[in-house]
Amino acid sequence: MSLENYDIAIIGGGPVGMALALALSCNSNLSILLLEARGLPEKVDDERPLALSHGSHLILQRLGVWEKLSQFTPINTIHISNKGYFGRTVLTTEDAGVPALGYVVNYHDLFRALYDKSLQSNLHYQTGAAVQPCATDDQLGHVQYSHAGIEKTISAKLLVLADGGQLSSQIKDITYQTTEYDQWAIVANVRTEEQQTGVAYERFTSDGPVALLPSGEYFALVWTVSPEAAKEILAMDENRFLTRLHEHFGNRLGQFVHTGKRSGFPLALKYAVPATSQRTALVGNAAQTLHPVAGQGFNLGLRDAYELAQEILDTTSNSKEIGTPPMLTRYRQRRRTDSQGGRIFTDSLIKLFSNENTLLKHCCGLGLTIMDNFPPIKRFVARRMIFGTRG
Ligand SMILES: Cc1cc2nc3c(=O)[nH]c(=O)nc-3n(C[C@H](O)[C@H](O)[C@H](O)COP(=O)(O)OP(=O)(O)OC[C@H]3O[C@@H](n4cnc5c(N)ncnc54)[C@H](O)[C@@H]3O)c2cc1C
Repeated sequence: MSLENYDIAIIGGGPVGMALALALSCNSNLSILLLEARGLPEKVDDERPLALSHGSHLILQRLGVWEKLSQFTPINTIHISNKGYFGRTVLTTEDAGVPALGYVVNYHDLFRALYDKSLQSNLHYQTGAAVQPCATDDQLGHVQYSHAGIEKTISAKLLVLADGGQLSSQIKDITYQTTEYDQWAIVANVRTEEQQTGVAYERFTSDGPVALLPSGEYFALVWTVSPEAAKEILAMDENRFLTRLHEHFGNRLGQFVHTGKRSGFPLALKYAVPATSQRTALVGNAAQTLHPVAGQGFNLGLRDAYELAQEILDTTSNSKEIGTPPMLTRYRQRRRTDSQGGRIFTDSLIKLFSNENTLLKHCCGLGLTIMDNFPPIKRFVARRMIFGTRG
């Protein structure tokens, strides 16, 4: 059994954990350990699309990750509609004053780009390292994991949970507030008769939103359905699936002519209260897991990572100790409004649009029309989606 000490141990090398590790290792001499349960990126088989905001693009550029992405597709327009009701909004790059409203990448490609960049850094990065118990005291966080058949115990001044929320129950005082949406997201790459031209479609229906995001020559589909429908749709043959999708989405892009592999994700809103504890900070999905509507989750998680890195760097440049209660309080305060805003924004969209109340549906349609006709409202919403509360 080996015993090692670090300044920071990050548990979870998903996109948010890796981004945090890179933001710290590029800008400091802190000793950082990053532990990821999964194996090498070749084994990360996750086809979910991620719509990255312009703000995330800027952060990934600063980290030297953007240039390593093998494929990204710019979004120049977002078309928002409400199935079966009047009203729609079209957001453009001019409305938001940015070169692109966002970029679509897939989870796997982003994981790979972050991984490649991590290998060039001075991080201690271990894949295939699943953390089992972790605990904290006043002075340190303690972590046990096994790697290549060797049991290890390490300690660090600050533990960061970037594990999607798997281990938080082991940390003192952290609890989760959860709302089950009783919805699943079906994701797949689909091709339509009409070619994609950089337009992303978000269509609200009473079952939940369906999004088609431009992705290379395809559209990346994120289709929200009930858990029962998800099982049925995942089991359908390709032709039935494409017909059902066309019935649901409508004829705006013509017929759906091809689909890639389909995957399903159960959806819930889950957030940690509080997002820090003794010697511990939570980031990304460990801090808050959102509904994928409007593509906010990773963008918010990346801002968690970026702001936590800033707080740590400010603390060390003032020759103060990291992981102390004042530092953790400052991090929590920095993130409160943005995290709350992301939660309320996505949760309200789902509650307002995924319902059967005709009057409310008409009000939503009216809201879309009003937004479409008032550039300041459009600009506010677009910049809120792109930069979080700082927008
Ligand atoms: C269908 C769908 C579509 C989405 N679309 C968008 C979008 O368009 N835009 C957007 O911004 N967001 C989107 N999201 C949200 C986005 O996927 C998440 O917010 C993002 O993946 C969170 O990253 P993370 O690194 O915090 O967590 P994860 O991606 O869950 O990574 C956690 C990592 O921790 C590791 N881990 C877990 N337990 C341990 C352990 N015990 N020891 C070591 N490692 C461990 C896991 O292996 C994993 O690699 C979408 C989500 C879904 C489901």
